[in-house]
Formats: sequence, C-alpha cells, structure tokens
Amino acid sequence: MKPKNKFQQQIVEASKTLPSITKEQIQWGYDNAISYVGQRTKKGKITCCKCSHSLQGMGELINTLLGCECPNCKSKLIVKTSQKRSFNDSYYMTVIDAHKGYQVVRTIMLSYTTKTSKLPEYTHSEVMQRWIAPNGKHCTFARLRQTMGTCYYDAWIFHTPLELRDENRNNKFCINVYDRINTGEIYPRQKLIPELKRTGYKNRFYRQKPLDLFRILLTDSRAETLIKAGYTKLIQRIMDSGWTLSIDNYWQSIRICIRNGYKIKDTIMWCDYVDMLRFFGKDLHNAKYVCPKDLKAEHDRYVIKKAKANARLEVEKQLEKEEEYRQAKEKFFGLMFSDGIISVRVLESVAEIIAEGKAMKHCVASYHSKADSLILTACIDGKKIETIELSLSQLRVIQSRGKCNKCTEYHSQIINLVESNISQIQERLAA
Ligand SMILES: [Zn+2]
Repeated sequence: MKPKNKFQQQIVEASKTLPSITKEQIQWGYDNAISYVGQRTKKGKITCCKCSHSLQGMGELINTLLGCECPNCKSKLIVKTSQKRSFNDSYYMTVIDAHKGYQVVRTIMLSYTTKTSKLPEYTHSEVMQRWIAPNGKHCTFARLRQTMGTCYYDAWIFHTPLELRDENRNNKFCINVYDRINTGEIYPRQKLIPELKRTGYKNRFYRQKPLDLFRILLTDSRAETLIKAGYTKLIQRIMDSGWTLSIDNYWQSIRICIRNGYKIKDTIMWCDYVDMLRFFGKDLHNAKYVCPKDLKAEHDRYVIKKAKANARLEVEKQLEKEEEYRQAKEKFFGLMFSDGIISVRVLESVAEIIAEGKAMKHCVASYHSKADSLILTACIDGKKIETIELSLSQLRVIQSRGKCNKCTEYHSQIINLVESNISQIQERLAA
C-alpha cells in the first residue's frame, strides 16, 4: 500500500534504514521461543528433537503431562509418544526495537523441521512490524497472507515484501488481523525510545500485546501513574476489560486509593466492588467506601444487596405490565368454581401472580405474559394448595403445581374441578 499521509510517509522512509534482525536474536529465538518435541518410543526412550540426544524417560503419563527437560541442551520438551519420525512447527518471537525516534515491535516467525536423529532445519522470517510514534499513533508493516482455502489467518507468504499494509481493510470481517497475531516470546534486550522509558515501563507486559501497552503508556499518563504506584495488576485488569472503556470508571477511586496508600490485593474483586458502589450511588471519592479494610466482606455484602435490588427491579418491570395483563385477561376476572371443599379462581393481576409465585415458591411469576395461558389458584379454606396453568387455545390444564413445584393429594381433584367447569371459561372466551 502506498503511504496515505505524512505520518505514513515518514515511517516508510525510516523503515528503509532499519537494520535486519541479528543472527544472535534469531538464535535466541530458536533456543527460547520454540517448544521442541521429545519423541517417545513405546518403551519410553525419548529423543530430543533439538539436539537429537536420547534419554530414558519415565512413565508415559508423567512425561506427557509434565514434559521433560533434555539433559544435553536443556530444552523443555513436549513429549509425544509416536512412531512419527518427522516433526515441524512454527513459533513467534518479538523484538522490541527503536529506530529514528519510533518504537518498533518486530514479530518474527520461526519454523523448524526435524527428522529423528538428525538436527533440525530452521527457517525464520520477520512477518510484521508495528511502528509507534511517541504520540501513540501507529502503522503496520507486514507480509501478505494466504487468505483463500485456509482457516489460518497467519499463513504468511514469505516471499512477499514486508511493507505498509492497510489495517482496516485487510479482510471482509473488519477484524484487525495484525492485532490477533501472537507475539510469542519477547527478546529480553529491548531498545526503547526515551518517551517510553520515561513512562516507567519495566519490560513487563501484564499479559497485553506490546503495541497496546506502549500506545496506552504513550498517550495516557494514568497508566504511568499506575505503574509508578505499583498498581500493575490494575493495569492488567483494566486493559483486559478495554482500557478506554473502563479507566474513567475507576480513575477517581484509584486516586483515593493511591493517596491513602491502600493496597488492592484482589483487583478483579475491587473493580466489581467499585461497580456496585456506583450502582448504589455511593461517593466514589470517599476512602470510607473505596478503601475498605475487609474488601471481601464489603464486596459480599454488596453482592447480596445488589441481588435484592435486581429482584426488586425485576418485580417493578413486571408490574409495569399490569395494564397489558388486565386488557388480555379481564374477561376471565371474577371466574370462580368450587366442589364444596376446593375453590378455584382466576388470578386477576400481575401483582397477584407474583405473590402466588412467592407464596408457592415456584416460577409462575412470569407467566402473566403468556398470551395463551390463564393462571388460576386452588384454595381450601383460603389456604393456597396448587397453582393451575390452563391453555386457552386447547381448553385444558397444562400444569397444576403445589408448593415448590410438588403435586399435592388434591391434585386430581383440582384438575377434575377445573375441567368439569371448562365450559364457563369457553363462554367467557367467546364473549
Ligand atoms: Zn536436547
């Protein structure tokens, strides 16, 4: 792609003088970024794919689960019990580089092919570069990828040039493929632009992609504050849930924590807790709330409070449907029949149905919205026995349940009573 603006032009220009990845860096990758196979025979002899040293392993299960370390080359082996003599795989490594005032995140694909008792053959190819300016703006250089007939998004075509690519139009699903490429192991000796050094970046990524972390560090001084205050787990948590979406939600409370020297041990719990404080309209600037002595106890207390509030909201939402219910079922109101012992009547409001569900501990509460159902209650001397759901289109009882969804000794008697009076319902239905 041709550069579209001055920024891209400058980076294309800078890229022309970027030194190649060194032999030492690639060798480091072969030694550290690849997980080699240890081929295990049925008898337990393990051959290291990297240096072809053989050793007598332990049981299959132990070796397969725990892997084993080659005593010769010290590689941690993935043990595979197999007749196969040839293995190949690809891994990524990333070099953090700086060039002409830009931070460059360079990702290299390393591949190996090995045949038992021969040393592996290696290839490598730098497949992607993310160029980041001190103001956080970035663009991406990459090789082309095979997109037809493969389900892999990183089937690189190695002979294509590593050049400026359009990030927003690299596939029809509008997914930024370059953001999804695994960056693999990070080469430990990193070159940093001074702007990034000043942010307090400590060669740690908090399980984030280098590009994402660098851009946030370069553009949002709050990330720097978090690192310098030692709140690195919070960076991880907030980046995990989308930095730009969530940092504003917590920032005022974080500042109070920093000012009070409050240690946040469980960041996930603390963030959930602050979310609940916000829900209940508590003062998020107040250390009394945001720096609890016993975070877990306070968190759990609010979880219960929130569950109650949610239940109340749910009831309120259902009660809003009162008018709708009245219009739909009004013609059946007042209907009642009895056999002298049991009396059955129609429930006449959403509130009454919710109360029935509560008293009977079953889930009739939401049934008011079922268009084809009529809900009735069966009582003896005013005591609730069962709740009945009747199908209006089929004019029969679909279910009748006692407390906690159980059947009672009056079950068949109740159904008989309703069905012998079905004509009354039919009359109202026709009216
Ligand atoms: Zn070895």
